Amino acid sequence: MTEKLSLFIDNQFVESATEKWIKVLDPSTQETLCEAPCATNEEIDNAIISAKKAFLSWRETPPPERSRVMMRYQDLLKTNQKAIATILSKENGKTLEDAMGDVWRGIEVVEQAANITPLLMGETVENVAREIDSYSYIQSLGVCLGITPFNFPAMIPLWMFPMAIACGNTFILKPSEQDPMTANKLAELLVEAGAPPGLLQVIHGDKDQVDRLIKHPDIRAISFVGSVPVGQYIYKTGTEHLKRVQSFAGAKNHMVVMPDANKIKTIDSLVGSSVGAAGQRCMAISVAVFVGSSKDWIDNLKIEMEKVNPGPWDSEDAGFGPVISPQAKERVISLIEKGKTEAECLIDGSRCNVEGYPDGNWVGTTLFSKVKTDSEIYTTEIFGPVLLCIEVDTLEEAIALINANPFGNGTSIFTASGRSARKFRHEIEVGQVGINVPIPVPLPFFSFTGWKQSFYGDLHAYGKQAVRFYTETKTVTERWFEDDEKSTKNLTINLE
Ligand code: NAD
Repeated sequence: MTEKLSLFIDNQFVESATEKWIKVLDPSTQETLCEAPCATNEEIDNAIISAKKAFLSWRETPPPERSRVMMRYQDLLKTNQKAIATILSKENGKTLEDAMGDVWRGIEVVEQAANITPLLMGETVENVAREIDSYSYIQSLGVCLGITPFNFPAMIPLWMFPMAIACGNTFILKPSEQDPMTANKLAELLVEAGAPPGLLQVIHGDKDQVDRLIKHPDIRAISFVGSVPVGQYIYKTGTEHLKRVQSFAGAKNHMVVMPDANKIKTIDSLVGSSVGAAGQRCMAISVAVFVGSSKDWIDNLKIEMEKVNPGPWDSEDAGFGPVISPQAKERVISLIEKGKTEAECLIDGSRCNVEGYPDGNWVGTTLFSKVKTDSEIYTTEIFGPVLLCIEVDTLEEAIALINANPFGNGTSIFTASGRSARKFRHEIEVGQVGINVPIPVPLPFFSFTGWKQSFYGDLHAYGKQAVRFYTETKTVTERWFEDDEKSTKNLTINLE
């Protein structure tokens, strides 16, 4: 019988009473790995009650004590990195090496959460007026919610709940229904790390469960990562219900190739960053902008891209895995077909087979050149192993082209010129910028800053700024009189 995935409520794994279950399929074989429940309204409400109750004591737990839970959690995640990565690879399809990286990026955030105390320090100014001092405290919010996408089933949940919890909040996680098993493993290890009941709840499901959660009066803050239409919907609905919302959405990331760049490193980086993880990364490079004579390298790029092939997660020869679902495969292939009418197709990955895996969601590396900015393949986030090439004459043209794109998640430039690199970094309207680095992945001691339609919300966050998202800053203005009886406190709350 197929395994039924549990919900995680009040530190217990519980079987859902729901009648609606979603099959979780191995993307290489279509074998059913488990069935994930669409939690009932009652189960969602119970999870929120547990989180609300836990918040009352957790907010009073000293930050160093909260940090110690995260220290133990970090240690357990490291010990179990391969076990988590294996679950993740099976349900997501990405190669084991890639899955290890997915978990590792999350561990780095937990390390940050384990050092939360200095980040929770307020500010003080003495003598804001004569004999009046002012200072601020950073205080926790309450029950926070995270809604996460399929493409990083460990890293993205770990962007959210460890920081929120270390800041003194409790958390409801709604992972992607396409690969929900990793989240249960993350919850299991948090209990092992000594988390008291109610700190983290895992609610499975799809749109209906998300809708109940984002409108629930007891949810104080919402973190979302996913596609643009859903990100806009979550942002609009969450804020309409007067919640604090940060919403990370889709992307179309460009890499500028200058003629003075290191040719071998540039081509190598373009291949890895465009087709790695089957192109299913929000920071994948999906457009290469060749400046001037660097366009002559497209032939070499084609040769290198043709050497990379997909395969199942545990194959050592696989450059990347399948795309997540048959629907995703169909969507990517239909965009490739459209692209053939819009641009020159140099490599066509639409008829890709992997020996021994006839039912896998395979899409091979695909390369287009002479792509126009009004074509559908350019204006759509393909989210597959597809790279588009555009040729321009100058760096100014390349910058103007990227700045005109509605997305602004990541970008990079390959060049040997410090002057070109500086100009690009200064003028480009994109949140994460790489200079001779293909995917400028942010680390948690910086902040993640998608621009334009890649981010909705007023706090550019994950990492350092996450502390500001998951807390309130309270500014206190204080004055003391000689006569204690008459002493007063005047609190002004500064809602960030
Ligand atoms: P998705 O938007 O389909 O799903 C994300 C989450 O939203 C899932 O938990 C899903 O259950 C839920 N959801 C889906 N449809 C919904 C609806 N109509 N109403 C309410 N909730 C709904 O995204 P995905 O396909 O899982 O992930 C891929 C997308 O995520 C890509 O666009 C990628 O660029 C983006 N992404 C962005 C970042 C970033 O940091 N900006 C990081 C990773 C992925």
